[in-house]
Amino acid sequence: MKVLLHVCCAPCSVMVVEALRQAGHEVTFFWYNPNIHPTTEYVSRRDQLRTYAKELGIDVIEVDHYGLSAFVSQAIQDLDNRCLQCYEDRLLRTALTAKANQFDCFQSTLFISPYQRHDDLKLIAEMVAEKVGIAFHYQDFRPLFREGQTRAREMAFYMQKYCGCIFSEAERYRKKWGNHQEKS
Ligand code: SF4
Repeated sequence: MKVLLHVCCAPCSVMVVEALRQAGHEVTFFWYNPNIHPTTEYVSRRDQLRTYAKELGIDVIEVDHYGLSAFVSQAIQDLDNRCLQCYEDRLLRTALTAKANQFDCFQSTLFISPYQRHDDLKLIAEMVAEKVGIAFHYQDFRPLFREGQTRAREMAFYMQKYCGCIFSEAERYRKKWGNHQEKS
């Protein structure tokens, strides 16, 4: 099948693309991540994916949009559940692009991460697939996560330290340094 694979970052793509190719699928990468902040982080992740895609000989369809203002305005309304809106936005854009470009189905590297809300992610992908009228190819890639991270480090990939949004960055460093940054 022709699969449009939404890629959140190159490290998470390593094992997903390998598994899909081994199963005989033809993979095209899709970059749309307006949830990644700040700009330097966004560019580092995007450029790492471009480099890796070139090495693999995989085409990349890009919606190259740094969406800080719109993302934060939306997320701040319900910070605890911001991931659900974040998933829906990215998966909906993936499904629409897959449909417009005659792919058979779509997938996302988010399905390899043990840190995402996997069951919610699956429900949202299925809902979006039905809404757009294109198949969602479900696979739980989480057992491959550690191997993918190890291989990405061995290939000297840019490795991010937090999920993507500025709120996830704060959570990451709050665990490490405490809550002092909220007090200023
Ligand atoms: S933590 Fe990750 S999935 Fe959740 S809103 Fe932030 S970038 Fe999106």
